[in-house]
Amino acid sequence: MSDAGYLHGSCLCGGVTYRAALPVSHASHCYCRMCQKQHGAAAGSYANVASAGLVIEQGADLIAEYASSDHGRRDFCRGCGSTLFWRSTQSPDRIAITLGTMEPEYAGQVTREWFVENKPAWLPQA
Ligand SMILES: [Zn+2]
Ligand SMILES: [Zn+2]
Repeated sequence: MSDAGYLHGSCLCGGVTYRAALPVSHASHCYCRMCQKQHGAAAGSYANVASAGLVIEQGADLIAEYASSDHGRRDFCRGCGSTLFWRSTQSPDRIAITLGTMEPEYAGQVTREWFVENKPAWLPQA
């Protein structure tokens, strides 16, 4: 069976699984403080896709949502804390899916970086 038309992923505990229809409009690393806090990491890394193509295959009841700003919504697994999705109520037709939850590994390019002025000094220097 060919799965070339979809991204697939799951959370750390495996309770939530999803698929998202391609294409990805762009993938990004976001170094804003909210992404850093939520991910506990240097950045939030996402692929931006059409929200209509996202299917929660399993564990929809495990997904909790945090409103991090007026329009920003951050979805995560309440069982294991994995960050899953970011969306804006201002653009309900799009959703951003975390690259680190994808299986197999995301094969596309990351073409955008946001809030690079917040890149932490402890990142390895290129
Ligand atoms: Zn989980
Ligand atoms: Zn961010």
